[in-house]
Amino acid sequence: MFSLLDLFSKRTKGSLSFVPRSLSDDIDSGAARGLQRALELTLGTVDLVVTDNRRRMVSAKKTRNRHQIRIHHMFVGCEDSVFEALVGFVNDCPDGRKGINTFIAANNDSIRNQPYKMELNPVGNVYDLDVFRKNMLDLLGDESLEDIRVSWGRKGSGKRSIRFGSFDFSQRLIRIHPALDEDWVPDFFVEYVVYHELLHGLFPPDESQERRSLHPPEFRRKEKEYPMYEEAIRWENENIERILRQ
Ligand SMILES: [Zn+2]
Repeated sequence: MFSLLDLFSKRTKGSLSFVPRSLSDDIDSGAARGLQRALELTLGTVDLVVTDNRRRMVSAKKTRNRHQIRIHHMFVGCEDSVFEALVGFVNDCPDGRKGINTFIAANNDSIRNQPYKMELNPVGNVYDLDVFRKNMLDLLGDESLEDIRVSWGRKGSGKRSIRFGSFDFSQRLIRIHPALDEDWVPDFFVEYVVYHELLHGLFPPDESQERRSLHPPEFRRKEKEYPMYEEAIRWENENIERILRQ
């Protein structure tokens, strides 16, 4: 896949929209934005509409100085070769059309059988993760993180160690372990985990480096800026056993 991360920080000229609008909750909007940027680099201004229309997977229109491109959401996050076919299609070249048709044929079954819905479940029994997410976004003050969403993960069983949180780079989704949705777990700890995962969005692993560190020194420095960092670490050390017993 082309390097979307390079493109994340730049703004697009054209618009990005979803049809139906509710689709925007289920589609990785960061990846959609990245695709739009990549298209703009080759085509100029692009208004990109991401649809759920299976009968018409791709269409492109050109007005004076901008392209309007409508694509089915399965193109979001597609591979290089498909991206090139898409550009070819927009430029009306036969190879592009052929590439698109091959891709659609190969993916038709998975589209039909796979629900695209990503399960978002930020409201737990005790904690609403969106509240922490918003507070931490205010604290970090970085616009590029605003599309990151947060959800309680699903309950697994029989684990001897747990990850409190994870960050899915492609879906721009933070999952928090449901064992933390308990009233004896202090809010500052859950909030700290959300903060930590947001920092992964701020410091994506450097693809150019051979040994990638998920937690480089600048990550660790920033992590300590969480106002209750010391308390959170202390609480974790004192309570890890109890959490694992859950
Ligand atoms: Zn981490």
